[in-house]
Formats: sequence, C-alpha cells, structure tokens
Amino acid sequence: VAHALRVCTLGFLAFKLLGGRFWAISPSSFTNIGSFARASIPATSKYATPSERLAIERLGRATGCHTCGSRMLFTSSPVKFHGDHMPPQAVTKQLNDKWYRKLLGIQVKQRFYPQCVPCSNKQGSILSKATNELRKMEAERNSLNFLKRFGNNLPDLQKAGGGRLAHFHGLRLRTSHLTGGVIGAMTVGSVNGERLPERDLRNGNQKRFRAIQEEIEKKLLSVLAWFDR
Ligand SMILES: [Zn+2]
Repeated sequence: VAHALRVCTLGFLAFKLLGGRFWAISPSSFTNIGSFARASIPATSKYATPSERLAIERLGRATGCHTCGSRMLFTSSPVKFHGDHMPPQAVTKQLNDKWYRKLLGIQVKQRFYPQCVPCSNKQGSILSKATNELRKMEAERNSLNFLKRFGNNLPDLQKAGGGRLAHFHGLRLRTSHLTGGVIGAMTVGSVNGERLPERDLRNGNQKRFRAIQEEIEKKLLSVLAWFDR
C-alpha cells in the first residue's frame, strides 16, 4: 500500500509540476472522439441497427455522452442517445480517399460512441456546413483564382468540429479524468503536448512498448492515423 501511495503521490506531483490542471478538461471537438468517451461498439458504415441502437442507448445512460458528458438524466424522451460514428461518415470518406489509404487498401474502422441528441444535432449541422463548403471548394478547385487563394489544400473535415466550435466543458472536476491524466502522463510521455523529462521516458512503461511490438497492425494503423490528421 505504501508503494502504491508513493506512486500516486509521484504521479500527482509530476502532473502538477508539468502544469497539469485537474479541473480543466480539454474541449471536445464535434468531429473527433470527445473528452468523455469511454465505451463504444464496432460500427459499419451503415446506420445503427435496432439492436445496436439499444446497446448505444444503454451505453449512453451508463457512461454519458462522449462529447459533453451528459447522461441525460432529466430528459424523459425514450431516445436520449444516438450512435455517433467515429470518425464521422464524411470524415471517414475523406480519409479513405487519401492516396496512402488507397495504396495500402486499409480503410478507416469506425465505432459507435453514445452521443446525446443535442450534441448529435449540433454535430450534424457543423458537418453539413463544412461538407458544403468543401464541395464548393472542390468545384472551384481547378480555377486559377482558387489556386492563388488556397493552393492545393482542401479543408480537413476532421478539424471542422474543433477550435471555436468545440464543446467547452468549463471548470468541472472529474476524478476519472484526473486519473486518466496521471496515467496518460506516465504511459504516453506527454500531457497537453508537454513532454515528460527524458529520464521518465527512458524508464518508461515497458508494458506499452511490449504492446506495440505485439501489435504490429495497431502500430501501422496508428501511423495511418497520424497521416490522417
Ligand atoms: Zn452531449
């Protein structure tokens, strides 16, 4: 117990020293997996089936909306949660069309995360607006005027729901995120983009390295995810 306590204290101090703030949860982009994401179920590119919808409803009530964290406790509607495709359909299509994904023949795997109906609606409007803008830009792409203004870069749908439009969680203390932050700090080697001291990285979590070795496929997929960003 003493050892566990020491580990916890060290984790706490390390997190604090690195400028971690327990009460701040990073805002949730509407086009990415939200800060409250816990459980999810595998998804196809189709709409959720009745049995999937039931599973999502149960997950949502148990673990809350992956974007805003709400469990919809004070809503009487029988449908409180939608299965949110992650990545979203439009994002997945854009990613699957990238040359390196086509070359390797590896498609994005989507999962359903429970998302409350208000967040689901908001995400829908953000994405349809971003998709419309993208289509417009694609149509103009070959004009000289467009090239002058934007070069060859079309906007990333994945980024559409972040930034200004992201769901800001305010200053809520969530113990689960506290532990998540500490564990994250110890295993990943960085918190909020700040790197841990080199020493910690070298002694770093062997389990993590083993997992990487054992799961070459996962590694490849994460490289792809990096490309996708
Ligand atoms: Zn929500």
